Order: sequence, then structure tokens, then C-alpha cells
Amino acid sequence: MTTETNTALAAALAHLRQNRDRHLRELDEFLRIESVSADPTKTGEVRHAAQWIMLELATIGFEQVALHETRGHPIVTAAWLHAGPDRPTVLVYCHYDVQPPDPLAEWVRPPFDPRHEDGRIYARGVGDDKGQIFIHLKAAEAWMASAGRLPVNLRIFFEGDEEVGSEAADEFIGEHPELLAADLCVVSDTGMQDDEGTPAITYGLRGIAYFEVRVSGPFQDLHSGGYGGAIANPARVLVEMLAGLQDEHGRITIPGFYDKVRPLTDADRAASAAVPFDEEEFREQTGVPQLWSGEEGYTYAERISARPTLDINGIWGGYSGEGAKTIIPAWAAAKFSARLVPDQDFHEIERLVVDHLRRIAPPEVKVDVRIIHGGAPALTPLDHPAVAVAARALEAAFGKAPVFLRSGGSIPVVAALRAHVGLSSVLVGFASPNGNFHAPNEWMPIANLSGGMEAVVHLWGELGEMTADQLGRR
Ligand SMILES: [Zn+2]
Repeated sequence: MTTETNTALAAALAHLRQNRDRHLRELDEFLRIESVSADPTKTGEVRHAAQWIMLELATIGFEQVALHETRGHPIVTAAWLHAGPDRPTVLVYCHYDVQPPDPLAEWVRPPFDPRHEDGRIYARGVGDDKGQIFIHLKAAEAWMASAGRLPVNLRIFFEGDEEVGSEAADEFIGEHPELLAADLCVVSDTGMQDDEGTPAITYGLRGIAYFEVRVSGPFQDLHSGGYGGAIANPARVLVEMLAGLQDEHGRITIPGFYDKVRPLTDADRAASAAVPFDEEEFREQTGVPQLWSGEEGYTYAERISARPTLDINGIWGGYSGEGAKTIIPAWAAAKFSARLVPDQDFHEIERLVVDHLRRIAPPEVKVDVRIIHGGAPALTPLDHPAVAVAARALEAAFGKAPVFLRSGGSIPVVAALRAHVGLSSVLVGFASPNGNFHAPNEWMPIANLSGGMEAVVHLWGELGEMTADQLGRR
């Protein structure tokens, strides 16, 4: 880093320390806004949160601060693009909506009246994800207030529908790629590795393909005493078909399913092995008597994050009431889904699954398959230059090197930004992994908030030392 950058960086960090108390008061104000996206009676509050952010952005010195109406809640965008055309442009994505606070009775402190206790802030949304928006606002403020500029070109993309599926944001990405154009996306909606200050970078997410299948036989339920033995039972056919989709190790038997799966690299496997994983603790959390042996040749950590899987989500049909009813049910149905990994294409997997089920359907029944929804996997390779830069920034702020994670879940927006804007995303999150996301008594360590602000200040400083080409401008 140049001496000039170092001096500027020190001034930005000093700004954070000098303004810490004011910042925490402002965060409380933001957290008091009840931006519950799922609750139609809170629509005004969600909009209020968007407007609160816009005022902050404008005060900090962002330009093109805009509220975009969608079929859901508003999207907020803004930009500051004066770092120079050869400097990287970074898009920051977070969401300002929160989960409903229910069940309210289980909150020890009120969800929308933030309490600071034992080095933590308790409030709905403090970890997921308003506290993380706030981290980005204050990191930008620190640079702008101390240096009058940012080291990188920065774009903001904050949505208010994440907790209800991000459909509006998905559409927005397709319609306004010009407002999101960047060399890299930084997403802050994940957590640290632990509560001992170990940061985490998430570099991969799984995709999904979701199905409903219905097996139909006779016009109506039949008496098993009169027809059993001559009529194929749709419930039996369904469970046989479903059971046959995987072998005894969970390996998926649908032809072509694994064709596009990118093998794990040595670096992937080393990164996964470096993250502590206590099998017994993992088992205990679930209450199962034993973990499933599962796919051979992979660790549990790899199976739950970096390998494709298939799960039956629900199964129904026939008689399930009190006592006995001797029938051959007219039909039986199930929902099932596959988690996908790079480079599986969910449209192709949908075709493979539908074709396979039609092929294995016995002639005695009718099989209908419906595609419910799909999403693409995402992976930013570990050797992407942004990953190393983010790791340095996190280590500078927290005094500990981060772990590198692939998440077994999906963030739809990350896949959409890849598909429509060509953006690679690095997920740098500051919530506590134990911070009661989506549950009563959500909390965030104050140290993660101040550490997060410092990490983002470092991150912009580090990225500003690079050219856009070095970051892999396309
Ligand atoms: Zn979130």
C-alpha cells in the first residue's frame, strides 16, 4: 500500500473511532423502523427504511440516490464514481427488510426497541441485515468525511424483499443492469465463523431445482379387498420411483445429473478441511440418532455445501385419518428438490428429472411432474483476486485470518447478478453465527459492527490500490 493510502486509511479508521457513539445511536434509529417485508400492514415502515437509507447516502455524498418502485418493496440504488475509470467499480448488495418478529412473547427485549447489553445489540434485523447495511454506510462515510473521496467507484444496491424471496430484485436486475454494472459485487448478508472474532468469506452457493410429482391410478379410491392384487397402487409406485432416484449412499441415479458438476479442487478441499467441523455437535443439534453415511469420498462439510443433493420435501395421498381404511388410493403426490452446484444448469436438470420420471413411470399409472422453481448455483473461484483482497481486509480489522466457506443454501440475487450483469460476488458477512437470525432475540456483537466497518474501510483501501483490469474487468 502506498504511504498516501496508508495515511488516508488511518484517517478513515480514526473517523470511525471518533464517531462510534454517534454511529451506534444512528443504528438504533434505523433498527426502530419496523421494515417487515412479509407484513402488509408494515408497507409504510418498509418504505420508511428505504427513505432513511437514501437520506444517509445523500448526506455521505453519494450521487444518483434513487428509490425504484417495484411490484414488491422499493429498491434503493446510488453511486459514487469519481475514483477514476481505471479503478475498480464495486457493487454492494444488502437487504433492509427484516423477518417478522413473531412469536413476540419469546422476545426478552422488544424487537424494535434496540437494547445494548453485554457487548451485544438486541433487535430484529441487527444481524440480518440492517446492521450490515449500516456497516457499509459508515465505512463509506469514514472515507468521504476524512478523505473527501472513496478509493474505489462504489455502487449501492439495497433491496426490501429478500425475506420474501427477492423476486422484485430479480426482475430489477434484468431490467436495470446499467445501474449495477461493476467489476465485483460485495454481499454482506452472512455471518462470521464464530463469536471469537474469526471472519468468514463465503465464495460459493448452491442452486436449486424444485419439483412436484403426482402418480394417479383409478378414477377414485378403490376397496383393497376387491381390487388389491390387480391394480397398481399409486402410493407404492410413487415411493418406489422416489426411492430409486438415489442409491443407498445418496448418489443421484438420474442419467446425466452429474455430467456438469465441477470437481472440487485441492484448494476447495483444503479450505473446507481448515474449518472446524464437529460431527458429534452437528448430530446433537439435529437430534438424529446417527448421521447418514451419505455420498462416499466426501466429508460431511463437503456434502452439505459443495456437493449436489436430493431431498423429498413432503409426501401425501391416500388415507391418513383415525383408524383403518382399506383402500387403494386414487393418487399419491410428493414434492422434492435437488441442491445444485457449479456448473449444473437448473433448466437442464429440470429436463433430465422430468424425462427420467416419465421414462421410469410404469404403464399402470399416470405420472405428472411439475417444476415449482429453480435457481442457479454460484461460485467465485478461491484464486479470484478479490478473495485474497477481502481476506487481507478482514485480517487487518479482526486480527485473524478468515475461513473460506461454500454455503449449502442459495441467494437468488447472487445468481441473477452473475447471469444478467456478469458479476462475481464475494460474500463478506459480519453477523454472529449464533445471533438468532429469523428467530426471537436476534443479536449482533458490537465488536462485529465496529470490526465490520473497519474491514470495509480496509477493503475499499486495498481494492483502490488495484486497477480494474487486475480485478478482472471483463
Ligand atoms: Zn439476510
